[in-house]
Amino acid sequence: YQANFAPFKDEKGDKAGIVMVLQDITERQKLDNMRKEFVANVSHELKTPLTSIKSYTETLLEGALENREMAEQFLRVINSEADRMARLVRDLLQLSSLDYKQVKWNKKDADLVQIVKNSVFKLDMTAKNKKQKMTLITSEDKMMGYFDSDRIEQVILNVLTNAIKYTPDGGEIKVFLERVDNQSIVRVRDNGIGIPKEDLPRLFERFYRVDKARSREMGGTGLGLSIAKQIIEAHEGRIWIESVYGEGTEVIIQLPLEEKACVMGI
Ligand code: ADP
Repeated sequence: YQANFAPFKDEKGDKAGIVMVLQDITERQKLDNMRKEFVANVSHELKTPLTSIKSYTETLLEGALENREMAEQFLRVINSEADRMARLVRDLLQLSSLDYKQVKWNKKDADLVQIVKNSVFKLDMTAKNKKQKMTLITSEDKMMGYFDSDRIEQVILNVLTNAIKYTPDGGEIKVFLERVDNQSIVRVRDNGIGIPKEDLPRLFERFYRVDKARSREMGGTGLGLSIAKQIIEAHEGRIWIESVYGEGTEVIIQLPLEEKACVMGI
């Protein structure tokens, strides 16, 4: 149900009461609302950098170009706003191809330990720049599964980037990798800002962010986790998040591994 309230006044203009309208929202209306909300979000996300690009360009054309130092500063803003738009368009295109099942999965026998090691290695410098300690903890040498390695790496990189972004300087990020029966579990644990309980169920929604300003400042599009969920689900896996606000966050990814019999070629 959706509730709408409106106060009403009597002839003298004094408050007389409140009208409450309860509406039964059907599934179709819900979908329609989601679609409208999505379009509104996309437009807003594209408009923000565009407005900024436009106003800096105008200022340059109106004379700021004469001042080399100022011009350079403005061009840097324009460049980074264009980058933001490019990231957004890239993510939107990927979401749409996932939605329309147009992704050509390149699934092969692949080693998850190697994929996770690569991802940690790639982001090591980024973490170091924030004086964060990032460690991989595992007792496994190899975990074979049927994965699209690039896409799985994309998910791990995204989750690790979030851990780095939402953890203050000097924090710690631990990546645990373990095998439970024929499933692999990757846990990315940080001791960062954490997520309020009420936000947890909505994190995988498109454009949902706990703190919009902070996410934008960090270069986020708000689409990373919804893409991650689709990729993991296309591998028959699961992804979920546990967090304590102010203490830290843990993102857990579960992926099926090949049956032992299969690995040994029986
Ligand atoms: P974004 O591009 O904003 O990072 P994501 O879809 O990757 O978008 O994540 C959605 C939101 O989830 C983020 O804006 C942030 O509020 C929250 N979030 C994700 N990972 C973490 C984390 N490790 N710690 C705290 N908040 C997080």
